[in-house]
Amino acid sequence: MIEVKNLSKHYKDRIAVNNLSFKIIPGVVTGFLGPNGAGKSTTMKMILNLTRPSQGEVIIDGKKYIDLERPIAKIGALIDADAVNPRLTADQHLQLIAIASGISFDRVDEVLQKSGLEKVRNKTVGQYSLGMKQRLGIAAALLGDPKTVILDEPFNGLDVDGIKWLRSLTKKLAREGKAVLISSHLMGEIQAIAERVIVLAQGTLIADMTIEEMSKKSFSSYIRIQSEDNHRLQEVLKEKGGLVQRNEKESIVVRNLEMEDIGITAKENSIALFELTRIHPSLEQLFMEMTDGKVDYVSDEKHEYKGR
Ligand code: ADP
Ligand code: MG
Repeated sequence: MIEVKNLSKHYKDRIAVNNLSFKIIPGVVTGFLGPNGAGKSTTMKMILNLTRPSQGEVIIDGKKYIDLERPIAKIGALIDADAVNPRLTADQHLQLIAIASGISFDRVDEVLQKSGLEKVRNKTVGQYSLGMKQRLGIAAALLGDPKTVILDEPFNGLDVDGIKWLRSLTKKLAREGKAVLISSHLMGEIQAIAERVIVLAQGTLIADMTIEEMSKKSFSSYIRIQSEDNHRLQEVLKEKGGLVQRNEKESIVVRNLEMEDIGITAKENSIALFELTRIHPSLEQLFMEMTDGKVDYVSDEKHEYKGR
């Protein structure tokens, strides 16, 4: 279990990470979301002891990173897929890490197979696409069979096959009991794989909740209507207590009234309806609203989510 406690990072004139606390829970894929510049990479680097925190600490199974006996068995990470010597083959790159960490070469074969790079293992990394480098970075992250896997924007550069592969891999890792933390600036990438999301904006935690909780938060559903006389319908719905907004697309948007009320009101006023649809904002829309700082969606159970 990794615990991030009151972690902050200040650069000269800016706060990259601001008093962040959360846990990375075993058996769960956690999405680490936030727009570019939110502080995701900086946080991940602090967890991995690659960047020194200005304040706070990271506790890994009760210890600080520097006190771990074999860090590679605790945390495996992909931070920068490009940070590989382009003249090495995938095989050589992984073997070097294996030698340095006392890992058997059998494990190199296993992770090459897991990452789908077996056929190109003897090509130099300089010839790899970004997607292939991402796969290699993930292979390296898995080499020590770590309990926690941290992947920074691993979807970048992946093609459709790569995305499918990564989705099933992360779910499999979680089923094996590993804690998986995976960052992205796109809700869509995370939605399909994560059970839980941590959302950052401007270095600050704005949500720590399950995808299910977040879906429920998109509570502000509304009803979209098109009719033969939107203008008059708008007036009569307001009289019934509806919060009515005109939409760009010649339709009106109503909150605070049920579908039945709207249908009956329209009938009473002899206005023919062409459309009556309940709209639930997508998680993507919700994510954008949250990170725009418009809404405070911090979960009540903040920092307390314990997994299944
Ligand atoms: P994200 O990964 O969410 O896109 P980062 O962690 O890379 O965000 O960056 C967070 C903020 O910290 C950004 O404003 C970025 O410009 C700043 N930052 C990151 N690394 C450094 C650095 N080495 N020196 C100065 N500022 C930095
Ligand atoms: Mg980043």
